[in-house]
Order: sequence, then C-alpha cells, then structure tokens
Amino acid sequence: MPYFACHFYKLDPVKYGIWTDIKYEKCPGSRITELRRIKHHLERAHKLPLAPPHCPRCLCSFQDDVDLKEHCLAPEGCKPAKGSPGLKDGIDDRQWARIELLFRVSGKKDVDDIARWYEIWRILFPGVQEPSTTCGD
Ligand SMILES: [Zn+2]
Ligand SMILES: [Zn+2]
Repeated sequence: MPYFACHFYKLDPVKYGIWTDIKYEKCPGSRITELRRIKHHLERAHKLPLAPPHCPRCLCSFQDDVDLKEHCLAPEGCKPAKGSPGLKDGIDDRQWARIELLFRVSGKKDVDDIARWYEIWRILFPGVQEPSTTCGD
C-alpha cells in the first residue's frame, strides 16, 4: 500500500511543518493511503483565493478589468516587477484546473495513484527535481 504526503510538505518539510506556521498544521507528512485525501488537503490548505485582475508586467492588482485595461494603455507604461510571479506560495486557478482534470480520468483503471501524485508534482513545481518516494519518509 503506497503512502502519500502533501506535495508542499514533500518539497520543504521545514517550511511546511506545523512548527513553522499554524496554517500548515494539517500538512500531512505521510500515512495517507488515498490520493483523494491529499487532493482535499491541497484544496483546503494551499489553493489560492481567486486572484483579482492584475497587470502581467508590474503585477499591480486592480478593482476590475476596465481599470486594468486603462493601466495597460497608459502611454508612460509601468516598470516590470522584480521577481517571478510563478513563485507564488500556493496553487493558482490554472494549476488547479489541471489537477481536477487528472482526477476526472477515472475510466482508465491502470492510471495509478502514484503516477497521479507525480503528475500533480509536475503541475505544482515544474522543473523541480521529483522526489524518489511519494510519502513523507
Ligand atoms: Zn500541505
Ligand atoms: Zn503594470
């Protein structure tokens, strides 16, 4: 029986441990045998709230799309933000949609949970070295 850990915990057990922040108290280190429970945990603990419209260049956020459009059309332009917007501390809507899709492919019996766990890893942390096990060790 395979065990599954929270992907964020697996990425950085020190950062996402209960001793760092109370909000990570429920980050499971292992002992979970159903991938669906990990998915529920990701949704509750790591999914980001719906993001307001924001400028892709300076990353400022705006009340609505009209404000944003005005900002983008301003002749003087804005300065590009430092740092990568891809390093947000959580799961954005686009990533979550891909994870949902993974769980919808239930017709195929040979899609095992371990393969899915790694698939989620690649969605959440593209380019980051995959761990050798799916559990918290
Ligand atoms: Zn977690
Ligand atoms: Zn801007």
